[in-house]
Amino acid sequence: MQTKFIFVTGGVMSGLGKGVATSSIAKLLQLADQKVSCVKIDPYLNYDAGTMNPVAHGEVFVTEDGGECDMDIGNYERFLNQNIPKSHNITTAQVYSSVIEAERKGEYLGACVQIIPHVTDEIKNRIKKIAEDEKLDFLTVECGGTVGDIESLPFLEALRQLKVEEGPQGVLFVHVTLAPSLDVVGEQKTKPTQHSVQELRRIGIQPDFLAVRCTLPLEEKTKKKIAMFTNVTPNDVLSCHDAKSIFEVPQMLYDQGIMDSIFTKFGKVGMVNASANWDKWNEITQSMANHEDNKLKIAMVGKYVTLTDSYVSVNHALKHAGAKIGRSVDIDWIDSESILDYNILSKYDGILVPGGFGTRGSEGIINTANFAREKNIPYLGICFGFQLAAIAFGRNVMNLKDANSTEIKANTKNPIIDLLPEQKEISDMGGSLRLGANEIKIKENTNAHKIYSASSINKRHRHRYEMNKKYIPEFEKNGMIFSAESDEGKRMEILEIPSHKFYLGVQFHPEFNSRPGYPEESFAAFVKAASE
Ligand code: GLN
Repeated sequence: MQTKFIFVTGGVMSGLGKGVATSSIAKLLQLADQKVSCVKIDPYLNYDAGTMNPVAHGEVFVTEDGGECDMDIGNYERFLNQNIPKSHNITTAQVYSSVIEAERKGEYLGACVQIIPHVTDEIKNRIKKIAEDEKLDFLTVECGGTVGDIESLPFLEALRQLKVEEGPQGVLFVHVTLAPSLDVVGEQKTKPTQHSVQELRRIGIQPDFLAVRCTLPLEEKTKKKIAMFTNVTPNDVLSCHDAKSIFEVPQMLYDQGIMDSIFTKFGKVGMVNASANWDKWNEITQSMANHEDNKLKIAMVGKYVTLTDSYVSVNHALKHAGAKIGRSVDIDWIDSESILDYNILSKYDGILVPGGFGTRGSEGIINTANFAREKNIPYLGICFGFQLAAIAFGRNVMNLKDANSTEIKANTKNPIIDLLPEQKEISDMGGSLRLGANEIKIKENTNAHKIYSASSINKRHRHRYEMNKKYIPEFEKNGMIFSAESDEGKRMEILEIPSHKFYLGVQFHPEFNSRPGYPEESFAAFVKAASE
């Protein structure tokens, strides 16, 4: 079968949950036994998300194949329980780079190179290549930004052309909008949706579905009014009201008949009966929702705490792990720069230090790692949290007062954490860290081995610095063990303190592998220890 495309566009304003709508539709198709995947278009000029500040744009999500992607890719992976390659995050910079490169090679044979057709062709080819290479039944493509943005115009134009080329039964458009009410019981307003659809139609796109964000379920009369102004049937105006969890949105859309409508529009008679898949999914969503009375308190101490989305995969991974043992995880995000008295951390069941970069806030993290060790509070350190836990141990247990990372203090006498040797010649900031999944070997008779029940695992990385092997014998003599390594023993991957209740540092990013119903093992072990 030819791949069918579903294009998701955004209206009114950002932050309405286009990513959730996209993931939910893809999930429904997957639950109906279809082979699906998702693509995110980011119309910005960065080549990828790697150089963007997480506090402004949210977490940089790292794929198996080493892409530094928009955090929506993480949403897709979690909803679909499936890896998404980096080619699925398309940006303006990537498209223009390819076009300019082709022009320099003379591949356009003297033509004047233009946005239409050259840029739009490049966009369409990228989308079609993914569909063909992966032999997909359905591909949902989310276009970032809001209709009316200058940046996204070439992408929307390419999607419009694809509909013409693939025919009406090859492409559907879903437009995500907002129906605000000025107070809780107030009338649901349709004007923003009307204007937004007008803007979309002005550039030649008629939506097939509207996914309307609202606080309370969209009323029938509101659906009818929106339908009248937008040429979308009332049935296909879908209420996306507030839910307890984003994982309830597939069911919400399903209950409004979206699947029958999608299958009918694509020219199929009916949908596949796949109730077994639904049972598993419902079990997972229910396990994620129901433990409000059984809370666990975790302190997440880091640098990018003003926007919780900067650690979105870590937040999710904690919740997956909690759901597995019937606990809700309450996370307090604490700025490592502002802790004056570390005793505030005593009230938590566990302390987690996520990834980070640079000097600011690092002393607070080192003290936090030390506090967790001294007070026997379960500790999970990820990447920066691994590195700074080693430094805390060096300073406080081994008495190396100037122990540090050369990232924080370049000329420190005891560079416990140092630049990866192959990084020494690199000056570019984009795409140049150690990125993506690598094999890690775990030593037997260690906590790490118990946690993973395996001698070899594959985990995603994103770092430039690493544990300096020279210090390891001294560490191990003092009770901190390095229990896993990679690249033939060149790099340390896991540290632990066997005498501690739970003290684990990982150089990799376990959060990117955690999925609802399938928590990543180190998170599961950490949350379990915290709950005891
Ligand atoms: N800044 C550290 C490094 O580059 C840690 C990176 C991270 O936490 N992702 O190695």
